[in-house]
Amino acid sequence: MTRITVYNVVGYALGLGLSIVGSILVIAALWNAWPNVVGSDHIFAALEAYLWTAELDSGLGIRFKLMEVTILGTALLVLGIFVTVLSRQVFHAGKYIFLKCPFCKNRWKATRARTWAKCPHCNKFIQPIIVGTAE
Ligand SMILES: [Zn+2]
Repeated sequence: MTRITVYNVVGYALGLGLSIVGSILVIAALWNAWPNVVGSDHIFAALEAYLWTAELDSGLGIRFKLMEVTILGTALLVLGIFVTVLSRQVFHAGKYIFLKCPFCKNRWKATRARTWAKCPHCNKFIQPIIVGTAE
């Protein structure tokens, strides 16, 4: 049995984008905090205290506490991973797979998955959607 992994391109890009933005926010917050807490004896307590007191100027006249930035970043990161996982579909390939045209919604059987194909119904050059497999 061959496993076919299909990513929903929009979901995958969105998930990846959210993860990247989330990571940047968390790294930015820690990057700001680190030099101020690195000398402390209780580094995590100092980090937490610093994150609650220090503020980051967004440049739009709104100031965020570093802790809010960290929490928001973590939330975006988790959401991004979640969206990425959800946009992934795994099919167990049988003998045939069913492809679906995103334009005319017609289905047809094919022997292998392909990224680009010509729809046999509307004759457009399309990215078929895999909708299932059959023996
Ligand atoms: Zn079509």
